[in-house]
Formats: sequence, structure tokens, C-alpha cells
Amino acid sequence: MTSNKDIHETCEKALNGEKLDKKEGISLMNSNDLLLLGDTADKLRKKTAGDIVTFVSNRQVNYTNICSSKCRFCAFYRDKDSQGAYVMSVEDVLKKIKDSVHRGITEVHIVGSLNPDLPLDYYETMLAEIKKNFPEIHIKAFTATEIAFLAKQNKSTIKEILGRFKEAGLGSIPGGGAEILNDGLREKLCPNKASSSQWLNVMETAHKIGIKSNSTMLYGHIETPKDRVEHILKIRDLQEKTGGFQVFIPLSFHPQNTELYRHGMVKNPPGGFDDLRVLAVSRILLNGCIDNIRAYWVMLGKKLAQVSLNYGVNDMDGTVVEERIAHAAGGYSDGCATKEELVMLIKGAGRVPAQRTTDYEIIKIFE
Ligand code: SF4
Repeated sequence: MTSNKDIHETCEKALNGEKLDKKEGISLMNSNDLLLLGDTADKLRKKTAGDIVTFVSNRQVNYTNICSSKCRFCAFYRDKDSQGAYVMSVEDVLKKIKDSVHRGITEVHIVGSLNPDLPLDYYETMLAEIKKNFPEIHIKAFTATEIAFLAKQNKSTIKEILGRFKEAGLGSIPGGGAEILNDGLREKLCPNKASSSQWLNVMETAHKIGIKSNSTMLYGHIETPKDRVEHILKIRDLQEKTGGFQVFIPLSFHPQNTELYRHGMVKNPPGGFDDLRVLAVSRILLNGCIDNIRAYWVMLGKKLAQVSLNYGVNDMDGTVVEERIAHAAGGYSDGCATKEELVMLIKGAGRVPAQRTTDYEIIKIFE
């Protein structure tokens, strides 16, 4: 059992810029001294990112939900012949983007599922057509698990798939599919998709060929505080090697309509206390390594995302427009926020809102 004195010492160590180890990380992840964790994370955030809170004007596109993986935490996927199964044509995808261009989006975030019927050409055409029709929009697309799946399906290498996608217009890759980087847990949660080392390998390969990415962690299901810390430290280790992660995004699990819920393994989403603790500990453990910690308001809810700005967070994701994955599992939000709403939330927390590009360059500060 870690005493509160030890937690104070660990926080002091972090504030002095020292790197924390696994044992210290676990003691923080088990601590109920949320105010101390928040205060430490907030000080580190201020030092790293100042008072600016960024967001991007973007829209999401979930191009298909037909999936061979059938992850037990997922409420989004469908079998091919099930009601609600869909695949968007490239034209459908272009139309979705066109509908959002007037909102001034600078990024399209595209993720789908592991659909065995889609040829590689579908993905390349999608990227190339988006680039041709909307050259100013950054394409952030396809999680590391989608990339690993496509490499296997097409008997190709990760490097080749990523190289081809980059050539076709891919700008960066999202952080999804990491779930929890522990193969024992993945066996229970998502046995049919990329292992921990495969996910990390896709990210490392992407970074090495100049494709930056996000990183995530899905928490609040069957993992322990130790699993969370080990996950964060794996991200930290890779970041020290490549420097290619732009942000870390803890994703708060929503169990509704999932197999984990139906089997009674997870009844409720994490509470606000746990959400804030995970964000704060993420900031503390990744200090000096990943500058941006994001509150994904689609899963946290907008009000808790706003509160989290005092717990180490310096980024509020984006306008999103339409989101189907978290929504299918009972995500708090309708998946849409206007720029004005994000600005208001950030100002309401006493911070300075700024619209950014995908690469964290500031476009406009809202004083
Ligand atoms: S999380 Fe992704 S890979 Fe897993 S079932 Fe859902 S859509 Fe498929």
C-alpha cells in the first residue's frame, strides 16, 4: 500500500522533471488523491503547453462497419448481412467531406472496420480522390489495426501499405486500435485483431517513413491500474525512439450494446473521478515526452472534458461533426460540436482557445 507521503514525493519528482518508473506510475494510478494528481498534472501542462487549449476543425467519416474482428468491446461493427451493415462508396465519402467544407474543416478523420471485402484499391482511390478534390484538407486515416489487417490481407508489408497510402495522400494516422497494449487482455477483448507488438510496429514504421500519428488507450473495461500504466509506458518507450506521436488520448470505455456488457463483464462506463485520474496520470507519466494530452469529449461528455482542462489536458479534439463508433456504445455526445461551442467551453475554464492544424500549428487564437 502506497502512503500519501509517497504519492506526494512521486508528484514532486515529476514536477522536478524526473521520469517516473512503473511502480511509481501504478501508485499514482491507484491514488484517490485526485486534487494532488490534478494539481501536479496542471502544473506540468502549464509548463509544457501554457494556457492555450487547442482544437481542430474536422469531421469524422466511418466508411464501413462490416468487420471480421468482432471485438467484444465494440458496438459499432456488423456482420455483412446484418441489418445496419454498410459500406460507403468513395463518392459517399467525398460527399460527406464536401458537406463539411463550408464549415472550414482542415482535417478529415477516417476510420472504419476490418472489412474483408474491400480491396486495397478502394482505400487508395479514396485517399487520392480526397486529395484531388480537397487538396487543402489533411487526411488522417486508418488505424494501425486497419493497416496491419490490410498488409496481411494483401500479402504485403506494413511499410509498403503505408508507403502507398502516403503516396496517395495520407497525411497522418489516428491512434485507435491500441485498446490496451497487453496481449493477455487482447485475447479476451479482441482476439482477432493486431497484437500489441503489431500495433506498435505499425506506429514505428509509420513514424520512420515520416507519417506522424496519434496514440490512444481504451480504459474502464477489464484492465487494472497496472495494465494502464504498462500501456502508457509502452507508448512512452516508442515515443522516445521515434518522436512520432503528436498526442495521447485516453478513451473512456462505454459498454452499452457491447458483448462485454451482455456477458455482465462491464456494467458501467468509468466515473468522472476515474476519467480525471487517468488524464492526470497520463500527463504526469508522459511529461517531457508527449506534449499534448487530449480530452475526447465524445466519450467524456463536454462538461467533464471542460473540467479536465484542470487535470493536465491541453487539447479538446475537434468539431467531429458525425461520429458513429462511440455513439453506438452509448457515448455521451451526439458527436457534433461547433467551433463556437468549443471556444465557449475553453474560455469558461479560464483558458485560451486556439484552432490548430492536425500538426498542432496554431491557426487562430480566440482572445
Ligand atoms: S473495434 Fe474496430 S476492429 Fe474491433 S469490431 Fe469494432 S470496428 Fe471491428
